[in-house]
Amino acid sequence: MTRKQRADNVFSALRKVITEPETELNYQNNWQLLVSVLLSAQCTDARVNMVTPSLFERYPDSKTMAESSQSEIFKWIRSISYPNAKAGHLHKAAIILENEFGSEVPGTVDELVKLPGVGRKTAQVVASVAFGVPALAVDTHVFRVANRISLVGPSATTPDKVEKQLKKLLPPEEWGDAHHLMILHGRYHCMARNPGCDTCVASEFCDYAERLKKLPSDQEGLIPSKGKYYCATRKHYFMEPDTISDRSGVEQVSCPSCGSMNVFISKTGRTTRRIKDFRV
Ligand code: SF4
Repeated sequence: MTRKQRADNVFSALRKVITEPETELNYQNNWQLLVSVLLSAQCTDARVNMVTPSLFERYPDSKTMAESSQSEIFKWIRSISYPNAKAGHLHKAAIILENEFGSEVPGTVDELVKLPGVGRKTAQVVASVAFGVPALAVDTHVFRVANRISLVGPSATTPDKVEKQLKKLLPPEEWGDAHHLMILHGRYHCMARNPGCDTCVASEFCDYAERLKKLPSDQEGLIPSKGKYYCATRKHYFMEPDTISDRSGVEQVSCPSCGSMNVFISKTGRTTRRIKDFRV
């Protein structure tokens, strides 16, 4: 299967279960979208949605926020992560919108990144959602999902590289949808810890799921009192394992006598082998 075929299969499967691939942030206009996306950096959408109703009542537009102060804005967003820095960014961004953009949120990534607190990722989300600009922002969920499935190659080690490779796979009109599909899939199904591979609609196209299936089966009848670990190659127990890097660079538990990675936890019978995972 080519990577393009894999992508087509995966997104078509995800579309069947994620029928509304949209942001989960609540907003009514571009100003509110910009503020919400800026607040959502390192914070959950649910938390942002808790503070924005009162924040938007107090600051319905950039003018009211520009006339306020960082310390005043802080009071409305204190339960959000990094409230002090974000209050400062919001205040300065509002002033710039007033002075340079006629109180309007600009529609291009290049203009948006001029606003304090607006990085490339935030700018792409705003440009894509508010103005339909083709953009594919890569956050922690997109990075993890794209890498686990192998929608991108081993060289995609940074969000920028993942973005470039994904954009080559998909036509521009599908970038926005793909972004939201991967975010929602990563948030609710392909979580960082304990991904739900058993019930995943994309599992038959997913490299990570394939590697999971190849892990050694549980060993039955191990005797924990003989040692914490069991080496199935030398068939003996031991207490203190060695570690070794496998071909993917993942640190694996190994047998201190023979160096084998065919090691099991005596208490559970489970393999100690770990699959390469992806975090950013
Ligand atoms: S099969 Fe597992 S790793 Fe692959 S996309 Fe689904 S949940 Fe994620």
